[in-house]
Amino acid sequence: MQRWNGWGDVNIHFHLPTRGLRILQDLIGEGRARPDYPLEQLIERIPKSRLAPHPLISFDPKLRLDHAHGQSLPDWIGLRAGTMQRFPDGVALPNTVEEIQDLFGFALSNNMVVIPFGGGTSVVGHLEVPEACRPVLSLSLERFNRLVDLDSASRLATFEAGIRGPQLEHQLNARGFTLGHYPQSFDYSSLGGWVVTRSSGQQSKYYGRIEQSFAGGTVLTPRGPMHFQAFPASAAGPDLRQLLLGSEGRMGVLTNVVVKIVELPEIDDVYGVFFPSWERAIHAVQTIAGTDISFSMMRLSNPAETMTNLALAGNERQTTLLARYLHFRGLSETKACMCLVGFTGSRRLTATARRAAFSIIRRYKGIRVGKPMGNAWKKNRFRSAYLRNTLWDLGYAVDTVETAITWDKVTPAMKAIEKSLHEAITPDHERIHVFSHLSHVYPSGSSIYTTFLFRLSETPAKTLEAWKRLKQAASQTIAAAGGTISHQHGVGKDHKKYMATEKGAIGIQTLQKMFNHLDPGHHMNPGKLLPGDRGRRTEGRRQM
Ligand SMILES: Cc1cc2nc3c(=O)[nH]c(=O)nc-3n(C[C@H](O)[C@H](O)[C@H](O)COP(=O)(O)OP(=O)(O)OC[C@H]3O[C@@H](n4cnc5c(N)ncnc54)[C@H](O)[C@@H]3O)c2cc1C
Repeated sequence: MQRWNGWGDVNIHFHLPTRGLRILQDLIGEGRARPDYPLEQLIERIPKSRLAPHPLISFDPKLRLDHAHGQSLPDWIGLRAGTMQRFPDGVALPNTVEEIQDLFGFALSNNMVVIPFGGGTSVVGHLEVPEACRPVLSLSLERFNRLVDLDSASRLATFEAGIRGPQLEHQLNARGFTLGHYPQSFDYSSLGGWVVTRSSGQQSKYYGRIEQSFAGGTVLTPRGPMHFQAFPASAAGPDLRQLLLGSEGRMGVLTNVVVKIVELPEIDDVYGVFFPSWERAIHAVQTIAGTDISFSMMRLSNPAETMTNLALAGNERQTTLLARYLHFRGLSETKACMCLVGFTGSRRLTATARRAAFSIIRRYKGIRVGKPMGNAWKKNRFRSAYLRNTLWDLGYAVDTVETAITWDKVTPAMKAIEKSLHEAITPDHERIHVFSHLSHVYPSGSSIYTTFLFRLSETPAKTLEAWKRLKQAASQTIAAAGGTISHQHGVGKDHKKYMATEKGAIGIQTLQKMFNHLDPGHHMNPGKLLPGDRGRRTEGRRQM
């Protein structure tokens, strides 16, 4: 059963080792645990629906609550403290494309706002219900989740867009194939959600980001359906698929998705490496990224994250032995940087890639600690998200900011983002624990993924206020440093004010005009993605 006010399955718990908790308390103080707001009371506060009855729409209050949010920190505060204010008026869980069309027609002709709902894992406010005077329908694709076609000769698979990670891989693996798209939210996020948020999986270097895997599909726009054909390549003008990628529900409902698939790899290994310093580590990683060495992932933690990972690792005895071994090899505990390097593919190619990568790693004094560390990461790759529940229960909030930037700016940007977070918490006379890693590396640059932990405040309003300040400080620093406002989480509500800096005035106008053309009545997920669009329009035009 899925947890209603946090992450994942209610039966999965991520234990925080005593040593980890002690370190956290030393760094930022004792957590301020708060009692959760009771579900029953929150349900009682959900206002009456404004929708007319429809056989495919449910008004069940718990369902409306479950579709009122994603997984961002403001979403969590609203749920845990019971301060959530806005809920969709109804939720539809269609099974067939005919039902989706029926619901879509009903919503448009009744001047409703439609928010497509995939897996509900957005961390940037994509699913927030706007302050609209119009009724809001959450159109969940959860039951629209079948494999429609698998063309093994062309290596293309067509799925209904609501399919989630495990179901999708199960279907493909049974036929010897994989998509290989593994965001950390894999267990719950959906294929349609991945496409419209331009998601990035952990092994994107081998399998590609979702925009490389996405081959075609159908989106139902208020103007009518748009089909994107899965040509192997085309010179027929601009690629319209790029308009859908990153459209975040603004264009319409993505129903079918065609993806490129590959055969299940013979080898899928991850190795642990420790570097003596950040400078050596980043040079090694940048050098490898600039070659044609076929690695599937490279994840480099800075010293603060390395220390945190070791403190949080479940097996205290093993981490003590590892620390002793690294000390023996001359690595300082405060400077060491952990790096995970993955190789995926055929036995022959991965062996060649491994040899080439490790020869560069040795040149920069990297120390191999073998596969056990990589295996431990693989085992916990989706489970570590549960740590957020544990930390919240102990009175700590956790959030992340992420960007991608060219190599010359990676280290200064990482340091500036971390500094901005430290400075933004000081007015509260609080401390913050901040650490970063490079999660996806490219020949021209890298993503930077920064995590920050701070204590919950005395009131939910104050926690939210602190989060706003932290988020703004880090986002402004990212924009000023020349990074993108998001490498993988998308824009939603939380990043939209930074879009003008990135796209420019003409770019924003072009996107706005395109959405206005496809959705003149402003029905589709208004208030997200584009700046200056608060989603409050009351008038809608009938278009079907
Ligand atoms: C613990 C955790 C870890 C994460 N790790 C990663 C990661 O490693 N990489 C990464 O890229 N992201 C990650 N994310 C962010 C999130 O999982 C992604 O943005 C994901 O792509 C969202 O997919 P979803 O199906 O949950 O979409 P939702 O959250 O349901 O929706 C997101 C947006 O997409 C729209 N949408 C969804 N389905 C459709 C559809 N069929 N048609 C039209 N619009 C649609 C919604 O309207 C909304 O605007 C993580 C999130 C969490 C909570």
